[in-house]
Amino acid sequence: MKKYPLAKPDIQDSDILAVTQVLKTQHLSRGPVVRQFEEEFCRVVQCQFASATSSGTAGLIMALQALNVKAGDEVITVSFTVPATVNSILSIGATPIMVDIDKETLGMCPMALKAAITDKTKAIIVVHAFGKAAKIEELIKIAHSNNIKVIEDACEAIGNTLHNKPLGSYADIGVFAFYPNKQITSGEGGMLVTNNRDYYDAFELLKNHGRSMNGDLYDQISFGWNFRLSDINAALGLSQLKRLKNIIEKRQNIAKKYQVLLADNSSICCPIFNVEEIDSAWFVYVVRLKEHDRDEVMNELNKQQIQCGRYFAPVHLQPFYRLKYPNLSLINTEKIASQCLALPFYLQLSDQDIDFICHNLLKTNI
Ligand SMILES: *Cc1c(COP(=O)(O)O)cnc(C)c1O
Repeated sequence: MKKYPLAKPDIQDSDILAVTQVLKTQHLSRGPVVRQFEEEFCRVVQCQFASATSSGTAGLIMALQALNVKAGDEVITVSFTVPATVNSILSIGATPIMVDIDKETLGMCPMALKAAITDKTKAIIVVHAFGKAAKIEELIKIAHSNNIKVIEDACEAIGNTLHNKPLGSYADIGVFAFYPNKQITSGEGGMLVTNNRDYYDAFELLKNHGRSMNGDLYDQISFGWNFRLSDINAALGLSQLKRLKNIIEKRQNIAKKYQVLLADNSSICCPIFNVEEIDSAWFVYVVRLKEHDRDEVMNELNKQQIQCGRYFAPVHLQPFYRLKYPNLSLINTEKIASQCLALPFYLQLSDQDIDFICHNLLKTNI
């Protein structure tokens, strides 16, 4: 029986060649390819500075550190995200404040942000859920007028724009990720983008043990980690980034096919993007089931080897966070999350595959 995973990377011969070329050099890490990846990324995201790192999570942690967020500070974010977003705040000893999303964008609700701001709020992390633009301009306005910095978790949004401006380029710092389920992959990896030279300098130090060149020698001048990306990973990321336009087109076509097959069913809500986002880079294809039990549908599809995902399982309902926030209730987040079903989504899906998946989804009598 054919298996349909939720996601699958698209690895071409050109990717393999790019990686093996690095393996034949002396520079497996801290070589020239990381720099090339960063330069190309600056072009794509239209930012002045880009700093490659070992994961999206490492990027979020360094972003908070560069903004000087400290123990005792509060960082406002959402629960409708992957745990990494919230974990990054805990990693540096700050307190995550999770607020609700708005129903339309599935991103942070501006009213909820306003209500959550205190004297301790130092930064906010805005997530573009499924690559769908949050109300980023409005959120930045609210934050900046309160002297609060903004990090854009654009880990699902590479290639997406809002008003012709790339997501990830709006905030003080943008963070991207290249795990194999993302639109492009470097195996593991991430990228920080900013137009602020000081933040960029901080990233370069923070990811390399806080060390800086002093003449021919290194001095450690700040705190730091090893959050570097290797040139092997960077080669894969760069090779994929060069094909981004083509990858996005293919993802759009797959999304359109799903849309056509599912649009007529009144109990399924297809993903809706704003007019500006119609050319989305589609991180995942998530439908919302109106009335019936999502988990039951998921079990039925799993029996047909069609893997589905609960995107997102709200972070505040995870056992680890439930202990810390036993009474936190986020109405939109909880309702929408309980309806969301991510369908298999990758470039190798044929028309027949999509037919088969939709046929089985519709057969569950939703
Ligand atoms: C993937 C992802 C991350 C984390 O990326 P990693 O590279 O896995 O650390 C963070 N936030 C969101 C919204 C993501 O989808």
